[in-house]
Amino acid sequence: MSTVIEEPGEPAAPGPAGAGAFLSVRDLHVGFSTEDGVVRAVDGLSFDLDRGRTLGIVGESGSGKSVTSLTILGLHNPMFTEVEGEILLEGQELTTAREAELERLRGNKVAMIFQDPLTALSPYSTVGRQIAEPYVRHRGASKKAAWARTLEMLDKVGIPNPRERAKDYPHQFSGGMRQRAMIAMALVCDPDLLIADEPTTALDVTVQAQILDLLKDLQRESGTAIIFITHDLGVIADIADDIMVMYAGGAVERGTTRQVLRSPQHPYTWGLLNSMPRLHSDLGSPLAPIPGAPPSLLNPPSGCRFHPRCTFQNRVGGGRCVTERPLPAPDRAAACHLTAEQKRTIFANEIKPRLT
Ligand code: SF4
Repeated sequence: MSTVIEEPGEPAAPGPAGAGAFLSVRDLHVGFSTEDGVVRAVDGLSFDLDRGRTLGIVGESGSGKSVTSLTILGLHNPMFTEVEGEILLEGQELTTAREAELERLRGNKVAMIFQDPLTALSPYSTVGRQIAEPYVRHRGASKKAAWARTLEMLDKVGIPNPRERAKDYPHQFSGGMRQRAMIAMALVCDPDLLIADEPTTALDVTVQAQILDLLKDLQRESGTAIIFITHDLGVIADIADDIMVMYAGGAVERGTTRQVLRSPQHPYTWGLLNSMPRLHSDLGSPLAPIPGAPPSLLNPPSGCRFHPRCTFQNRVGGGRCVTERPLPAPDRAAACHLTAEQKRTIFANEIKPRLT
């Protein structure tokens, strides 16, 4: 998968916001208690996702994208984690759901695939048994029916000779095959929501493209809603309908994939785009990383959390970037004090020429 931003296809409009969305996250705050204080990993995040759509969440390490997905699945440790806000799945509140209810949802209605399949697959059990097990547990299927379903899923994800390969252990599979097996395991119960956390990062570009095609095919067949988490805007361009850019626990920009990639409005998104390799640039020309490092979430910067790294804060009057936190980004907007006109002209005159 090239990390060059290709022209994405014409996307449909984003799903309707607010009540009625299949998944609705409202003013989510997630904090971890540590000896040094509370780490505010997610800080006031809201978004909606509808069936059959893919939301790409992009950001650097520590931006809160993975914590958000683990919280949706209820996989955080309640002993050390404070969760506030709402996560509504078809109207059902998940932040207050009992563990038994979350356990019922996981693997059945909601499933997750990880970057490293070895974290999800046990080395001590055959691939086939691991795919069949959730089908028996969640669907109450007989062993025979679960085995038939397992072979069907292995075939669906493109594993040749499913009848034979189902008896193999994970270490007998290649990296790409293990990823396919994990996808088969995640999808065996036809989940309504699939969370994919950097699922293709460790794979070579050919296998990456195959996995993305596979997810798109499966979504077309079953109407699954997908949250696709990555730091790679090239991958997002290929798979997502909508994009949410996260920084320091909050959404700084969101919109359809076409909007965010063709006319990004936030200086952090400009930095992400500018730091990516481009197909037609000189081989010797250096990449332009975003200066500085992501902030500490124990003591986040005042005002706009991106201000210590932002080269455009002097275009905003009155030192507002340092003292006043921009409002969270609603649909198609950026959480930034620059005016809409400034965003447009800076992107057109200073950023876009560097991206082409
Ligand atoms: Fe930069 Fe200020 Fe906009 Fe933050 S609010 S991204 S510091 S210009």
